[in-house]
Amino acid sequence: MGRRLHLPRLHIPLAIAKRLEWGRYVALAVLAGAALFLPRQGESLNELEPFKTAITVGFDRSWPFVAYAVALLAASAFYYKFFCRFICPLGAVMSLGGRLRRFDWLTRRVECGKPCQSCKAKCAYDAIEPTGEIRYDACFQCLDCVGIYHDDKRCPVLLYEKKGKVLTPKGVFNAGTGG
Ligand code: SF4
Ligand code: SF4
Repeated sequence: MGRRLHLPRLHIPLAIAKRLEWGRYVALAVLAGAALFLPRQGESLNELEPFKTAITVGFDRSWPFVAYAVALLAASAFYYKFFCRFICPLGAVMSLGGRLRRFDWLTRRVECGKPCQSCKAKCAYDAIEPTGEIRYDACFQCLDCVGIYHDDKRCPVLLYEKKGKVLTPKGVFNAGTGG
């Protein structure tokens, strides 16, 4: 609906988004602690996830639950995946996989970030640093950047290669001649 109504898409500066992302780890820690030590309260704390209200019972609940779910929907209408990125404890578990990974599986070029910022600008999850590195803990594995990487109409490195040129941090030069 947000897209259809052409609502503005808010952008949070990366430094602030990175801090807000810790919210999901806090949520995970609180839920895990409650499950271990306060199982009765844990059931209530599970209401942190709005899906029971929004989907299972179709908003047919008391107003605080409905207000919470509607507030999250509203936030998500203006900010892409607001709940998933900043609150979701399951998202925290999945992002731990990115933090604990043994290798980088998303292909990058030396030109990524230096100078090209195309994939960074296109990543809807802010999961690419200005340097071109992937933030695996924030990456949703949508593979948009992999699609761009292989697309000679969208990746400037391939685009210039087709024209016999090379993209470097200092500009675009003719391949072979360096001029
Ligand atoms: S468009 Fe190509 S060079 Fe630019 S960031 Fe993406 S993969 Fe790297
Ligand atoms: S796979 Fe998707 S979320 Fe991950 S870095 Fe690439 S574009 Fe961003």
